[in-house]
Amino acid sequence: MRDVVIAVEAVLQRRGDSMYFGETVTQKEHALQCAWLAGRERAEDALIVAALLHDVGHLLSGETEDAADRGVDALHEDAGQRWLSQFFGAEVTEPVRLHVDAKRYLCATDRSYYASLSVASRQSLRLQGGPFHLSQLSAFAEQPFAMNAVRLRRWDDRAKTPGLPVPELDHYL
Ligand code: FE
Repeated sequence: MRDVVIAVEAVLQRRGDSMYFGETVTQKEHALQCAWLAGRERAEDALIVAALLHDVGHLLSGETEDAADRGVDALHEDAGQRWLSQFFGAEVTEPVRLHVDAKRYLCATDRSYYASLSVASRQSLRLQGGPFHLSQLSAFAEQPFAMNAVRLRRWDDRAKTPGLPVPELDHYL
């Protein structure tokens, strides 16, 4: 348990102050707001952890802030899943791995969802393959933890408020 606390603290300290691509919050603010939203909706602990660390893949790699501008899809969800699997089971790693596909799923199933996305998030959607085709929906939805990934995704999209006062990292460590 100590290992994961040290590792999470280190990665957020090292890269957490970088800006969240195309948004007005830092990676750390985004992570903390996402976890706070999960807690506010009484998500189970594993899903709160997933919310806190869903973008850890961005912080591990050397990718730069304008990756999306340059047309690069860095597959941060896979990098995050691999890193988190050192410490956690599927109840944490799967919602993280699926949180990008959850956006593709929501774009295909919820009319108002696409309109609610930020400009940066719409831009990255193209690189991520666009909305799912009808034939892809059930393959996504049938996976264990797919609906937790969808819940996480909705917090992810809202966790972008500059200056929002939320609990600090210590609260989760
Ligand atoms: Fe995110």
